[in-house]
Amino acid sequence: MGFAAIRGQERALHDLFFAWQQDRIPNAYLFTGPEGCGKRTTALVLARRLNCLTAQPDTWEPCEHCGACQKILHETHPDVWLVEPEKQLLRIGQIRDLQRMTRFPPKEGRRRIVILDQIERMNQEAANAFLKLLEEPPPNNLFILCASGLGQIMPTILSRCQRVPFAPLRREELTHWLVQQHALPPEQAFLLAGLAEGSPGKALLLHAHLSDEQRRALLTALPTLHRVPTGATTALEIAERLNKESEHLALYLDLLRSWLRDLLLIREIGWDMQRLIHLDLQTHLQEHAQMLSTPALFRAVHAIDQCEAALRRNTAPLLTLEHLFLTLGGMG
Ligand SMILES: [Zn+2]
Repeated sequence: MGFAAIRGQERALHDLFFAWQQDRIPNAYLFTGPEGCGKRTTALVLARRLNCLTAQPDTWEPCEHCGACQKILHETHPDVWLVEPEKQLLRIGQIRDLQRMTRFPPKEGRRRIVILDQIERMNQEAANAFLKLLEEPPPNNLFILCASGLGQIMPTILSRCQRVPFAPLRREELTHWLVQQHALPPEQAFLLAGLAEGSPGKALLLHAHLSDEQRRALLTALPTLHRVPTGATTALEIAERLNKESEHLALYLDLLRSWLRDLLLIREIGWDMQRLIHLDLQTHLQEHAQMLSTPALFRAVHAIDQCEAALRRNTAPLLTLEHLFLTLGGMG
């Protein structure tokens, strides 16, 4: 349950261990890496170690049994806070609460641990307020910021945190984890691990919201988009079907990308059992790969990126999806 149970993050754990061993834990850490790769779990193990009541001074793992460890495990410790986005955003009100509450010393722990999840979802106003907190950090507080990308974080915030990069898991590691921890059949786990690009969180999201039938139905329809004259009708039908999945559209767009990536691999390298994702749809992959040139494949990837950007701007989703699938069929 402690650090030893966190897979594939040797470098991040080494950085944390080293700082702890040297007694140089900063006021603020920034954990970066793909969603679900263990940032939050690691932050919580660190919170336990820093507040553990019985661990020996030279033991890196928390005991997991003392009162403090147990409270943190059950999310009832008064000095370990988890701040998450409310309706997609970390808001100014949440940061003002933090400013007010961190003025007081920790209630029972040695150090208060404030974990801010998805820090990239902080709006400008909240970020400015948070920056003030980081500029004059209240004593005995450790802020742990978690982010899946650096793009939208204010440079002034970045410069005040010690960055700890978390790596995506290798495909075999993630497969192993899905089989061991979630009892998935190895074949399905291998497929999901490929689709999730090393992110356990994404693998579980895919497992929960995208059935194998849905995956096959969408992907096997793609080569038929090029048929004249039925392709256009098929494109509009798929768009309409996907439009009803609005909550999980991002997963479907990623699925399309993974298919195009497979096609590119086949065109450029040939069959590679370790790297291809949709091995079970070999006939369809072969058929589709013969229809598209490499430049056409890149144009298709670009069309998906554009569709995603348009959806983010709330452009009429059905129209955007129709345009995407007509483009994928070479008719856009
Ligand atoms: Zn303990």
